Amino acid sequence: MKNNACIVHCPGTVANLVCGFDILGLALEAPYDIMHVQLIDEPVVRIKNLDDYNLPTDPEKNVAGVVLLEAMKKTDGTVGFEIAIDKRIKPGSGIGSSAASAAGAAAAANYLLGNIFDRDERIQLAMHGEKLAAGVKHADNIAPCLLGGVTLIRSIHPLDVLSIPSPDLYVTVVHPQVEVKTSDARQILRTQVPLKDAIKQWGNIAGLVTGFFQNDLELIGRSLEDVIVEPIRSILIPGFDEVKKQSKAAGALGGGISGSGPSIFMLSADKLTADKVAAVMQEIYEGIGIAHHVYVTTIGKQGVKVIPGEFPTLI
Ligand code: ADP
Repeated sequence: MKNNACIVHCPGTVANLVCGFDILGLALEAPYDIMHVQLIDEPVVRIKNLDDYNLPTDPEKNVAGVVLLEAMKKTDGTVGFEIAIDKRIKPGSGIGSSAASAAGAAAAANYLLGNIFDRDERIQLAMHGEKLAAGVKHADNIAPCLLGGVTLIRSIHPLDVLSIPSPDLYVTVVHPQVEVKTSDARQILRTQVPLKDAIKQWGNIAGLVTGFFQNDLELIGRSLEDVIVEPIRSILIPGFDEVKKQSKAAGALGGGISGSGPSIFMLSADKLTADKVAAVMQEIYEGIGIAHHVYVTTIGKQGVKVIPGEFPTLI
């Protein structure tokens, strides 16, 4: 069998980008999960974990498994997949751990089955994984993970995803090790929005997208404002206000909650500033005694990488 194994690098992602709740997201250059995927002559999905997160190995309960099972429906019913997952993005951290597995599985299945899925079909396929993790199909982590860069999800039904050019920005992410359940983070949201808040929000979204297109860092910075979701969700994240205030004072363009949290991200124009922001974040969480992890990275231009390779015999 040709092309019967590959290695996939599946990057973390930042969903929402502050004002673009459920419609904007960006890919990170790092961290990324590594998955080994192999096509087999048996119509089953077998999962092995190479990390210590104890994620389910039952394919129906693992987002990568669900995606591969869905991909199998497009075959003649004689083939399946073996997958070994080395997760480097902590599940539940808010930087798209489940989306990395789902998008990586969709990209691998597409490669191993001979590029039978187009761009939107790969996104649709991967969304089956997000449905398992979050209960609803959403693409604000999936799309940037698969496509790289910044993406706009204009609509899910019908699917309408656009890639947005962006400046070469640095991203500092802090993951304070507190649990924020995605379901809780969704439940506390208001379902009604006052018109004046909606007007402010869509002004910011349009400003942010324009800023990305025009390489206007000032505009990006002042558009990174969320008057609808952040004031409520940030209550679940200790130290949030302080991180935001001090990161901006250290020179960050702006930022906010990554996905549904607890991670917080900040965009910066250069590495020196991004490192300063990392130091500020570290100091704040050391001060309040919360274990944390800080990443300094860039916007990942490529997204998921599929590398042809052997399935390791030791797995
Ligand atoms: P994140 O925003 O970091 O992706 P989520 O809360 O969306 O976090 O997803 C993590 C949830 O998905 C956890 O409950 C985890 O057990 C479940 N899950 C199932 N399979 C996977 C997988 N392959 N990778 C990550 N999470 C998975």
